[in-house]
Parts: sequence; C-alpha cells; structure tokens
Amino acid sequence: MKITIGHLFPDLLNLYGDRGNIQCMVQRLRWRGIEAEVKAFGIDDRIDFSVLDIVLLGGGSDREQMIVCNRLKEIKDSFKAYVENGGVVIAICGGYQLLGKYYETDNGRIEGLDIVDIYTVQEKGRLINNIFLQSDLFEMPIVGFENHGGRTHINNNKPLGKVIYGKGNDGKSGYEGVVYKNVIGTYLHGPLLPKNPQLCDYLLSRAIERRYGAEASKLTPLPDKEENEANKYIVDRYSDKVENFKEKIRKLI
Ligand code: GLN
Repeated sequence: MKITIGHLFPDLLNLYGDRGNIQCMVQRLRWRGIEAEVKAFGIDDRIDFSVLDIVLLGGGSDREQMIVCNRLKEIKDSFKAYVENGGVVIAICGGYQLLGKYYETDNGRIEGLDIVDIYTVQEKGRLINNIFLQSDLFEMPIVGFENHGGRTHINNNKPLGKVIYGKGNDGKSGYEGVVYKNVIGTYLHGPLLPKNPQLCDYLLSRAIERRYGAEASKLTPLPDKEENEANKYIVDRYSDKVENFKEKIRKLI
C-alpha cells in the first residue's frame, strides 16, 4: 500500500511549521508499514489530483494568500472534482479560508476555491490564542494554536468541534473549523497533527479507504504516549480557566 500526500505551495503557505503535519502523516504511515510519498508543488507546477490521496494547504499571511489565489483560479475545477470524489484535504488557517468563497480583507477581496460553502471577513483585532476543542469525531480534545484576523462563517456546514478554550471560527459562534466530505478546515496550527494523533489517523484512514477499501483502512493502533501527553499538557494548562470544564469535556485521555 502506498499513500501520496500533496503539499500545495509550501514556499508560500507554511506558517508555524505546517510542514510538520506532513512529517507526522508520513511517519504514522511508515510505522504501520505503509509506504508514503510526498509531492511538494510550487506555484507554477502542474498538479495531477488523480495521483493524490491527501492534500495539505497550510497557513499564510494575507499577502501570500493573495498570490496563491491567482493560481487557485486555474486549479479550482480539478481541486473541486478531487474533493467531490472523496479526496482527503487538511486545510489550515490561511488554507482553510481559501477553501471558501472568499476572504474579504481591508486591502481587498481574496477569491477562494469555493469548494466548501463558507466565507471569511477580516475584522479588527486578531484572534491569537492557544485553543482546544471537543469534536464529536474523536474522544481526545483537539489542541492547537490560532492566529487569524479573518472570521470564518460556515453557514450550514458541520463544524470540526466546539471551542472549549480559545476563539475559533469567528470568536462568537463557539465553533471551530469545518468538516465537508473528507475535507477538514481548521484554524489550528501547532503543528496540528503531532499533538492530535486521532485526527491524523482519521485523515490517513479516510485516504486508505478511498484507495484500498474499508478493510485496509483499519489502522494498527500506535502507543502514542508522547502524543497523548502533549495533547493533555495543553488541556491541563488551560482547563481551570474554563467554566464548568468537566461538563464541557467528554473524555480526556
Ligand atoms: N492571513 C490570514 C488571517 O490573518 C490567515 C493567517 C494564518 O494562516 N495564520 O486571517
């Protein structure tokens, strides 16, 4: 078995070590004896989505997002077809915003891929915080770090999780991220995946299932001692700042 991960525009979209997410996916596949290949695409490279199993779109500044947006126009249709066909995508912060219709900034509108029915508007003040969420996809909380000026509105889409500590999509709704088909969009940097092994394995098993079927997608469990400790560290650090913490959090590992 082999899984191919496409890293889109790492020279432009790679804030706070988003590249670490790629290393994490590769390592967790290899630990299970599954081959992993990474294809990094520059802004002018041709992208053949049919050979990709997972696509990572990382975070970026408004300036970098503006540059990327012009290229996205050209790959919009094939990217959309990949998503509709169950292709796995993990999009973070600036990359998450670009999944939507647009990101309205004080310096103009950045057109998005329009793959997910969401949109983002810049508001005064940045939402900068450590953050953790409870998602109904996982037992473990999802932990990370957010830093964004844009407020994302997800319409009727499913959020990735409920914010337990931090700001999330727009600082008001109490929700963070979006889940659409096999696409996850989130504001969480970190890098996200090393501290959230259940989320990483979710992406991997979705990708394996799509290419090799349901039976193959049952992943061998890994010990995850350090990963779980890293996750718990963030939760413990902020839990006493959360009112009714115990009722809000379902289960901590
Ligand atoms: N430029 C975007 C914003 O400020 C995204 C930032 C990021 O990727 N961290 O909202």
